[in-house]
Amino acid sequence: MDFKIIHIDETDSTNHWLRSSEGTVLGESLSEDSPRTVPSELCVVAEYQTAGRGCGTNSWESERGKNLTFSILIHPTEIPASRQYLISEVVSVALCETLEPYLRPLESKEPLRIKWPNDIYYGDKKLCGILIENRLQGSTIVNSIIGIGINVNQEVFLSDAPNPVSLRQILGHEINRETLLNDYLQRLETGLASAFTNEETSTAYRSLLYRKNGFYEYEDAKGRFQAKVLNVLNDGRLVLLDTEGTARIYAFKEVSYIINKRYMARFKRILLKLSGESLMGKQGYGIDPERLSDYAKQIKEVSEMGVQIGIVIGGGNIFRGLSGSQKGFDRVKGDQMGMCATVINSLALSSALGAVGVKNKVLTAIRMEPIGEFYTKWKAIEAMEAGYVCIFSAGTGSPYFTTDTGSSLRGIEIEADVMLKGTRVDGVYTADPEKDPTATKFDEITYKEVLARGLKVMDLTAICMCQDNNLPIYVFNMDIVGNLKKVMDGEPIGTLVHN
Ligand code: UDP
Repeated sequence: MDFKIIHIDETDSTNHWLRSSEGTVLGESLSEDSPRTVPSELCVVAEYQTAGRGCGTNSWESERGKNLTFSILIHPTEIPASRQYLISEVVSVALCETLEPYLRPLESKEPLRIKWPNDIYYGDKKLCGILIENRLQGSTIVNSIIGIGINVNQEVFLSDAPNPVSLRQILGHEINRETLLNDYLQRLETGLASAFTNEETSTAYRSLLYRKNGFYEYEDAKGRFQAKVLNVLNDGRLVLLDTEGTARIYAFKEVSYIINKRYMARFKRILLKLSGESLMGKQGYGIDPERLSDYAKQIKEVSEMGVQIGIVIGGGNIFRGLSGSQKGFDRVKGDQMGMCATVINSLALSSALGAVGVKNKVLTAIRMEPIGEFYTKWKAIEAMEAGYVCIFSAGTGSPYFTTDTGSSLRGIEIEADVMLKGTRVDGVYTADPEKDPTATKFDEITYKEVLARGLKVMDLTAICMCQDNNLPIYVFNMDIVGNLKKVMDGEPIGTLVHN
């Protein structure tokens, strides 16, 4: 099947162009009421669409001459009408296969996924939109018009609906649109040829589904709920599994994905380190209820953005093993007391979070049910993905460590995007700003330099672990209410430590 490619400058929508009278190309009329006369495979590419169509009334923003907006006409006679959804599967899998090699050289990249029924997402951002219109006659598909918009070279999007991203933005350089199009058409052709006889495309489609892991928010006629994507049936209906364990089946348009601010937030999963000492507030010892509730409010704010949050809290406001040993305590027993202190703080924070309506779980590094569940990486990730804030208590569970090390360990284990170290200063300085008025603040600094300058960002073990495992640390002042959210919004209020 050789596609005849037609380039046009401007049209309302390329799908419409193919269906309209202008689409009477090669003697073939495609309008609803006149039958097809000559079979031909066409691809019409427009430099600009005045009414680019997403799904029905949704339109997307596409700058003239920057992207690929095109529609393809095919006659998939070998696919029965009952399996018309196969076209959707082939079209989107071929698109992922075409785009993937462009992303391959990137060191850190977001996954390329298919958002049911057939948008292509890069991470949580929309890279391509697809609209397929099939014309059926009895049990056959007479023709299929496949409209595709790929954000290729657009540098700036004026609106953030529907959360767009372009290849140019991801890769940092322009892409040849012609090559991309030809490559796609070739893959589409191969995919279509074997779609009905070969299960591979269907399997690939399902494995590439967006939000397959973890619970996210959706909305149907009855309201919002959390669920995970379970499957897409052969007829194209989506199966979601809600948090009650009920499978919900939806036809196109019956459910919408809630893609809230979470995706605008800078990080998807964070490890927040809070020091026990700052929990004291203005008191000389113990827990200041006001500080505790301020922390809880800040955490709630970020949790509502959909950010997955793990927290490690210190115990210095109650007991530190090292200071204990200086007063004659056995070091190991002293450290165990320190770890118990972190459990006390964790329970206090858990209770404060509960009071403001934030679902949370305390996990402990030492077995002590029923105070908290024994920590495992998988338990933690599952809980965070289900929307629970996880508080990791008792540090690493071993003496001679600190909660700084505990947080680098947990941060690495739970695959956090960043460790946010909430302190009472607003970042990393050349010297202690509380003692040296000439000290200046770094906006960013490498681990190497932190080590070379002997800066006290965290203890050495923790810094080295983050360095070795590439976990960036963001140091900021958590004692100012609203700062945690500012960090998530990308405001440069602290210091980033990285490789
Ligand atoms: N601790 C420990 N192992 C750990 C974490 C903490 O032994 O993995 C003990 C250690 O005695 C430490 C105390 O718990 O002094 C409290 O933790 P930390 O000093 O880190 O609290 P912060 O300074 O953050 O308040």
